[in-house]
Amino acid sequence: MVKVKIIDENLNSIKILFTEADRSLLNAIRRTLMVDTPKMAIDTVRFELGLVEQDGETWESTGPIPDETVAQRLAMVPIVTRHDDFYFQNMCPSCKDLVEDQRGCPQCSVIYACKAFGTEEGKMIYAGDMKPMGDDSLSIIDEFKEIPITKLFKGQMIEFFATAIMGRGRDHAKWSPVCGVSFISRKIGVIKNKSKSKILWDLDLEITEKDFKNGKLEDIEKVAILERELHHVGEGTEEMREFKDAIVIEEVPEEFILSFETDGSMTPRVAFEKATEELSSRFDNISQDIVSAL
Ligand SMILES: [Zn+2]
Repeated sequence: MVKVKIIDENLNSIKILFTEADRSLLNAIRRTLMVDTPKMAIDTVRFELGLVEQDGETWESTGPIPDETVAQRLAMVPIVTRHDDFYFQNMCPSCKDLVEDQRGCPQCSVIYACKAFGTEEGKMIYAGDMKPMGDDSLSIIDEFKEIPITKLFKGQMIEFFATAIMGRGRDHAKWSPVCGVSFISRKIGVIKNKSKSKILWDLDLEITEKDFKNGKLEDIEKVAILERELHHVGEGTEEMREFKDAIVIEEVPEEFILSFETDGSMTPRVAFEKATEELSSRFDNISQDIVSAL
């Protein structure tokens, strides 16, 4: 039975230790995280075009950046994703029976509105300038409010309505909530030759003999440090001839460390939970198919 333990977690990144697992399982989770974890992202943008009279001035809906590029930038802005509050449009109770371009209700989409005017010296328009219509808790996350969208000068304005919907990374990268997803075998440090390992201890580095228990170093963080420190006595060094692999790094069979970051639309823990849910539901479907085929 595969066991999972979170060994390091913060707001945007996570490290998870798997035991009694194999590479194919880890790879399936890696791929699911990237392409199958549901996430909200802006999918359509409606730009209001034309002239606007305001404060005795005429403003035109134009700017230095083409609308297509603005839309592309908006798509990549992380949108807070609450899986329990939103449906995929094709599964939304109120929209699933409608034709595709008529779908969209508060249960399956969020509309962000933005109306901004330029200034003489140029005014930067940021992601934070668009506001959700309705629920304020869906505002652009503080951390990403300063993502630049475009810059407007006097006489220029922008007005748009951007609709975010739930999607999957396999359809477009904007719906992929993770980056830098990788897994490695769990490693430990092993002393093979006690007297020669003194060469490393004499260098007075961070890892010492005391960190080892019964000739083994198992702490994951410390093993990573040891791996770096072994370069002082490894290939291409004078000490290498004497040291002769007195301490080695060994891979632990069936143990892996998965690490990844999220883009901020959800916590890494939520991304992991959703990915494993997706994966297990897929396997359920396969087993049902097999049962019905037999
Ligand atoms: Zn709907």
